[in-house]
Amino acid sequence: MSNPAPGTVNPATGAPLQPVPHTPVADIAGIVAASRAAQVDWSARSLNERIKTVRAIAQSVLAHEDEIVGLLAQEMGRSTMGTRLPEISIIADSVERTIKAAKEALASEKISLSPLDFPGKRGVVEMVPRGVVAVIAPWNYPLMQINKPLFPALLAGNGVVLKPSEYTPRTGAFIARICAEHLPAGLVGVVQGTGAQGAALLDAGIDAVTFTGSVRTGRLVAVACAERLLPCSVELGGKDAAIVLADADLDRTVPGLVYASMFNAGQDCASVERIYVVDAIADAFVERLTARVNALRVSPDPGAELGPLQNARQLEIVEEHVAAALAMGATCVAGGKSTGRGYGYRPTVLDHCTADMQVVREETFGPVVAIIRVPDAEAALTQANDSDFGLNGSVWTKDVARGERLARRLHVGVCHVNGHAWTGGT
Ligand code: NAD
Repeated sequence: MSNPAPGTVNPATGAPLQPVPHTPVADIAGIVAASRAAQVDWSARSLNERIKTVRAIAQSVLAHEDEIVGLLAQEMGRSTMGTRLPEISIIADSVERTIKAAKEALASEKISLSPLDFPGKRGVVEMVPRGVVAVIAPWNYPLMQINKPLFPALLAGNGVVLKPSEYTPRTGAFIARICAEHLPAGLVGVVQGTGAQGAALLDAGIDAVTFTGSVRTGRLVAVACAERLLPCSVELGGKDAAIVLADADLDRTVPGLVYASMFNAGQDCASVERIYVVDAIADAFVERLTARVNALRVSPDPGAELGPLQNARQLEIVEEHVAAALAMGATCVAGGKSTGRGYGYRPTVLDHCTADMQVVREETFGPVVAIIRVPDAEAALTQANDSDFGLNGSVWTKDVARGERLARRLHVGVCHVNGHAWTGGT
């Protein structure tokens, strides 16, 4: 039987959701044109006026907290706490940090000109808006992944067309509605639908793209943008590694890594999916990690710390990775099966994993962590770096100076010692 259409099932319960109509492709150029028309007035406003409006949008989101928590419960199957933490509680702080960054980034800069080349002239670099920015978003944090590029684009004086994921369209419609209450009509447009609508948006006269999603789609978007000479940023997938050294403080390391691997049911680009643990501490570490993972409360238990996977395809990927690892000799020491309700999957620890397993090489994006036992720190580092991915990494040790030296040799964008990720809760 084929999987249900994206965004039409509550992942926690399996209950059907009313489908959200897709935007006809023929309408997309008009949505971009409306944003461009509104952008003329918006960009003429002072930065201070734009700051006031963006703050008001953030306040409105907070004022509608119950509504958005309810929508995210439907679309993601999460508990209230599971939504508040990554999507709501960060808004005010993230907007203020974005405003601070915008003030710095948008300030004009005087440049000194050679009096020989430009006698009697003065020079200044002015920051001007791009025009209309397409924001193409994934489903794993439906509100936060839109807000993150939306607020900077607006502060810089741009119009924006949002393309929420087809799996979480209601959250995208919500934020577009809040924007419409505060901004010139049409400045923030929304295009609903699948990759067909996303691809059509790239062809509809936009001026820049921010994309967050999978490597596969990100590559398509980057190529399409290159062909059109559109500036684009792509935030893609991950397969984060953590290295646990023999002197790690397990009281800190175990809860830290459970959190970093299981938060949002592992559906996080910066989720820890590989743990390289040195043999000397491996047995003790795995025993304590397993106990902690087994104690997690899983949806639909009251107060669940772990929600379901968001969609049927994601559950299939997780099941495939786990089955293939077990067939190749991994040992399942926790979880390893679905909860039997909605798209729930039990938090899973696979011990004795090896470098050739899918669960070590490809993004799993689920509540599954692979343990790879290694003889020493150098072997951990070599194996952690043997990966196509490089978002975040971490080293866990009581010797912080040694941890920092190893962290500098991990091929990742951001590395922590005795902590992991949350590179930009912005
Ligand atoms: P996805 O790539 O399937 O989809 C992302 C968005 O792209 C969706 O809105 C989709 O409709 C749209 N799209 C699909 N085909 C397109 C095309 N040809 N042209 C334009 N748009 C198109 O990703 P997903 O499954 O929604 O999200 C999960 C992925 O996102 C994971 O790989 C995760 O690691 C990654 N992610 C990365 C970050 C980060 O900051 N690095 C953050 C969150 C998620």
